Amino acid sequence: MAYDRNNVFARILRGEIPCNKVYEDEHVFAFDDITARAPTHVLVIPKGEYVSLDDFSEKASAEEISAMVRALGHIARARGVAASGYRILSNTGPAAHQEVPHFHIHVVGGRDLGPMLPRADQSSPGTVEAGSLVNRH
Ligand code: AMP
Repeated sequence: MAYDRNNVFARILRGEIPCNKVYEDEHVFAFDDITARAPTHVLVIPKGEYVSLDDFSEKASAEEISAMVRALGHIARARGVAASGYRILSNTGPAAHQEVPHFHIHVVGGRDLGPMLPRADQSSPGTVEAGSLVNRH
């Protein structure tokens, strides 16, 4: 997929749309998600034009990749969720319901986040009842 320079995160990077900035360095920008799912819900994005994690992993420099990982840890510690625990995730492509076509990683924490995903044999995601998941580790 070609990169769309009018996607919402590109516009945030250009300062055309306001955001609550959390972190910035040479390669990375981070801001609060507008529809936060938890007390901490930060979106961490590269400043470069990458559609997804797939695109980023293929084309980004080692410095850009390193900067993303460093920023994730820094933000988690700065937000005070490193000790209590947090989740990072990156929706990539249609099956993962990626909404914004600029690579981003969600940092979510500040509450119990529950199990990672419903089991594949549970037909309707979101209807899982507490305690119904089997621990298969
Ligand atoms: P995803 O499904 O991983 O592509 O998620 C995109 C995320 O971007 C969603 O969690 C949205 O709430 C968030 N989002 C969309 N527009 C904005 C915005 N203007 N400022 C902050 N977050 C946004």
